[in-house]
Amino acid sequence: MRKFAVDCMMGKLARWLRILGYDTFFDCSIDDNQLLMIATAEMRILLTKDRELAAKGGYLVLAKSWRDELKEVVRAFHLEKDIKPFTRCPVCNGELKEIEREDAEKLVPPIAFKNATKFSICKKCGRVYWDGSHMVRMKKIVEKIIKEAKDEE
Ligand SMILES: [Zn+2]
Repeated sequence: MRKFAVDCMMGKLARWLRILGYDTFFDCSIDDNQLLMIATAEMRILLTKDRELAAKGGYLVLAKSWRDELKEVVRAFHLEKDIKPFTRCPVCNGELKEIEREDAEKLVPPIAFKNATKFSICKKCGRVYWDGSHMVRMKKIVEKIIKEAKDEE
């Protein structure tokens, strides 16, 4: 599975690549050279809006909105083939692990516990996720973007 490093101008793209299940480095506290070094050392594809940085060894993203950025990247690297949606934490890039319903009870709001059927926890930061309405919305966005990316090929 491909791994990515995303420059600081595309935080939403980084989140959505994680939502698709791609290991995506994103850290606004480092500079371009450090980002390039990390991408190289960890064999990550560097996605950037900066032409100079792209020339040094990155992929220049031309799209203007995060949805179009995501479509552009999905198309360029054929990501639709091996997406694993909702297996990675969009906030910290940690892997998610499913947890039992009874273990989730004390970790999520009562309303979420009542309605959700699947729960998972981030191995890195401990955030808990569940298949609520927010998840349904995100699934629709994922499906739409993958479909549009394929249609425009
Ligand atoms: Zn996390």
